[in-house]
Amino acid sequence: MHIVCLDLEGVLVPEIWIEFATRTGIPELRRTTRDEPDYDRLMKYRLAILAEHKLGLPDIQRVIAAMGPLDGARAFVDGLREDYQLIILSDTFYEFAHPLMRQLGWPTLFCHSLEADTNGMLVNYHLRMPDQKREAVRRFKELRFTVVAAGDSYNDTAMLGEAHAGILFHPPEKVIEEFPQFPVTLSYAELRAEIDRAFGAHARAKG
Ligand SMILES: [Mg+2]
Repeated sequence: MHIVCLDLEGVLVPEIWIEFATRTGIPELRRTTRDEPDYDRLMKYRLAILAEHKLGLPDIQRVIAAMGPLDGARAFVDGLREDYQLIILSDTFYEFAHPLMRQLGWPTLFCHSLEADTNGMLVNYHLRMPDQKREAVRRFKELRFTVVAAGDSYNDTAMLGEAHAGILFHPPEKVIEEFPQFPVTLSYAELRAEIDRAFGAHARAKG
């Protein structure tokens, strides 16, 4: 009974806000929690910029659809799903992820949601719950699944620590230094091998 929990942005698809900022030529949208640690202020700021540029959800989804997943992501996801249950745990929003999930063959996604008005303009956002990545892994363990989790950044480290095994994929140097307990992988082949190895090691440890 094996579940793989994967982060989305930076693992299977580009960083959506950053890539969106580049494609639309709106540099203000490159602001991240590193620039504005208050997430609520950051999101209100982003929604205001989108409204200022008259970008509604259909426009946004068109830009995101054109980004596509990272090279090789679809084959990696398909391969994982043949052998494991796959759940994607992300801090993005369903409305943003939708065009990308289509291109990934609709794997299961747990994330947050946005609220649009009747004209499609985004007016608010709703976080499903605090610390949802870690909470989800904890619940899967209660349901007696063995969980291996992989992600690329700080917002994944709680989930990686909660899982039976955690793996970093293309992480920034600072994350590698701060979290030396997690193996680092740099390609889908390496990540897949590490996932298989982690489940194998867990099974052997249980005897
Ligand atoms: Mg990420």
